[in-house]
Amino acid sequence: MSEPSAATQNALQTNARSKAGSWSAPGRVNLLGEHTDYTGGFVLPMAINFATTATITPADDDQYHFDSASFPERRTQSRDDRSPKQGGWADYPTGVLRQMQALGLDIAPFILHIDGNVPLGAGLSSSASIEVATAVALLGFSGHKLPLEEIAVLCRRAENQYVGAPSGIMDQFVSTAAKAGHALLLNTRTLAYEHLPIATGTLATTRVVVTNSMVKHSIASGEYSVRYRQVMDGQQALREQFPEVEDLGGATLEQLAACEDKMSTESYKRCRHIISENGRVREARVAMTAGDAAAFGKLMVSSHASQRDDFECSVAETDFLADTALTLEGCYGARLTGGGFGGCTVSLVEAKNVPAFVTALQAAYRERFGIEAPCYVCEAVDGAVARHPEVVEVAL
Ligand code: ADP
Ligand code: MG
Repeated sequence: MSEPSAATQNALQTNARSKAGSWSAPGRVNLLGEHTDYTGGFVLPMAINFATTATITPADDDQYHFDSASFPERRTQSRDDRSPKQGGWADYPTGVLRQMQALGLDIAPFILHIDGNVPLGAGLSSSASIEVATAVALLGFSGHKLPLEEIAVLCRRAENQYVGAPSGIMDQFVSTAAKAGHALLLNTRTLAYEHLPIATGTLATTRVVVTNSMVKHSIASGEYSVRYRQVMDGQQALREQFPEVEDLGGATLEQLAACEDKMSTESYKRCRHIISENGRVREARVAMTAGDAAAFGKLMVSSHASQRDDFECSVAETDFLADTALTLEGCYGARLTGGGFGGCTVSLVEAKNVPAFVTALQAAYRERFGIEAPCYVCEAVDGAVARHPEVVEVAL
């Protein structure tokens, strides 16, 4: 029998350090702070009881293998493959692998199997959950550790640079750093974060209900880039007038008003949404700390109005869901959540009223639009790092 080649010996040695197992990361719903995470603002999401699991076993053929219970496409690639994205779901875990390789982490050949129950493309961030699950799985499998922030940031880079989707940091951060029973308040400029308990005072008996409108208007991707441009133009005009303002996250409505004539009406309205939304997140922190469900609900309602009138990213279906929710017993507030032009609404509802709330909202929506709207009653769960503390350099 011939000696194994040097490459095979290396692979065998690295494989010997590798640990097969399953690692998971949750999806999320954003409670408040919409379109604020690419201009240094605040967001207030929570991780939800829907997750993606990445199971890894060592491969003996010197290749990386990817498959998912949700898609027929399987992908195999060599360890030194650096080809660009191919299109398809496997770009998400591949992007994460490439980011880890770029950091110089040695990862042995593996078979990665993805499974999970985060609804795909519904605005609950299945994309961040597959990225973060893959990241913690690759770390756990190969015995490496990274700082918590680095895990979130590299997953965002995978989505921005490899998959090519221009998302902010919110989704990956909350999927990584969330804590059960808490929402996560994140400053997207500094990445400073705080876990806020959501079961205090009158909030203790409420539930977070997400309703999927089941529509995604085809204008969405074009409109996102138009909005992005308008926001950036407005921010630039603000900075010219107030050099001390780093970004919209640090700007006031008074400053914005002072340079209204330096920007288009659209830019002015988009920026007014973002600055007022940052204010609402700050107020939400106070409401949550005080356990004040009514105050929190009011902020959700004004956030929806601001998205509808100033950011103009709500549509008839999500307006209907948010407005109808408010007419139902036990509902403190409701708003569009996620990027908009369809997607989901989130409502804060008294627990005892949830079954009747869901039935009535679905019936009204069915009658008006002829569409079945799935409702998800969400709990705030741990993010990936709290589930798998061995992959992080400093435990939570
Ligand atoms: P959202 O993040 O709102 O669910 P996205 O369009 O950003 O929607 O991401 C959805 C995509 O993420 C899917 O189309 C698929 O490519 C990938 N993805 C998410 N979860 C899985 C999974 N369990 N298996 C395979 N791919 C997944
Ligand atoms: Mg996504």
